[in-house]
Amino acid sequence: MLINGQRQVTIVNTAMATLLGHEISRQRHPYVDDIQTFALSRMIEHTARDGESRHEEIQIQDGTVDVDATTVAIRKGPDELQVLVILYDVTFMRKVEQMQSDFVQNVSHELKTPVTAIAGFAETLLAGAKDDPEALDNFLHIIQSESQRLSQLIQDTLALSRVGESNDHIEKVTIAPLVQNALNSIQQPIADRKLHVNVELDADLALETNKSKLSQIVRNLVNNAVFYNKDGGTLSIVGVRTNGGIRLQVSDTGVGIADDEQQRIFERFYRVDKARSRNSGGTGLGLAIVSELVEALGGSIHLASQLGVGSTFTVALPNATPTK
Ligand code: ADP
Repeated sequence: MLINGQRQVTIVNTAMATLLGHEISRQRHPYVDDIQTFALSRMIEHTARDGESRHEEIQIQDGTVDVDATTVAIRKGPDELQVLVILYDVTFMRKVEQMQSDFVQNVSHELKTPVTAIAGFAETLLAGAKDDPEALDNFLHIIQSESQRLSQLIQDTLALSRVGESNDHIEKVTIAPLVQNALNSIQQPIADRKLHVNVELDADLALETNKSKLSQIVRNLVNNAVFYNKDGGTLSIVGVRTNGGIRLQVSDTGVGIADDEQQRIFERFYRVDKARSRNSGGTGLGLAIVSELVEALGGSIHLASQLGVGSTFTVALPNATPTK
């Protein structure tokens, strides 16, 4: 936007109108008709008065703009000193920065709990509790389970940070053994909870994809279907070929998820029932990892769930074209 010595808009483009969120007349008119943000009009006013260029970041409506207000002398007369205002939309950049900083804060907060517990129980043992065999055994078990939790949190945080890495290794991945691996690694809890496992997969069902990303998706969904199931419940894994890819469904007959929580469970660290999640070794990152991995593989995820009845997570994935 170019503003003359009489504070009138002489030139403006459509990007400026978009950023300000309303139409701007192409006729000469006072710039205050267009600029309703006090910080921005003050910046322009000061620049027009003292001729000093200014550069600031300003909040406008729902966004953030980086503003350059520069004086340009074009010709003698009433239009002599003009102010050129350039806005750069930095909303997205600032949002990403905010998300990164929130994430670091959340991770630190989550790490603090097990670290504090480990330090506290070790201190108590050293202060004399180690001489009581029952307390010794009890506290060592707590230290062990809190260390496992710590290690899970670190693994999940690393898994999240790796989601963005490129899908370099595209290969033909057969689904049945990958599902079997996921089930094997959680065999004990499946037996403890007397779950019925139902797997419906064609032996040759396969996908061109990144194997480690796909196995992490399956592992996380299967783990949840076990931990949020009811004793004696059913865990079902069904896979079908689709036009250009596969569709995998992981269902359980467990606690289910209320309608208003269904979007939120994909957020990092969101847990419906904190205590239950913690008892099952959950970090609140499992589904965030799943949804980011699915996106990285070009697919989509869908959830159908009913409180007290069960949940079905459906993942649709396309065949990737090898990058060579
Ligand atoms: P967590 O480590 O807590 O399991 P997730 O990101 O995997 O974290 O899941 C987020 C939350 O979503 C869980 O805490 C749980 O409340 C809910 N959830 C996830 N999967 C299921 C499921 N199959 N059935 C019911 N609730 C689930």
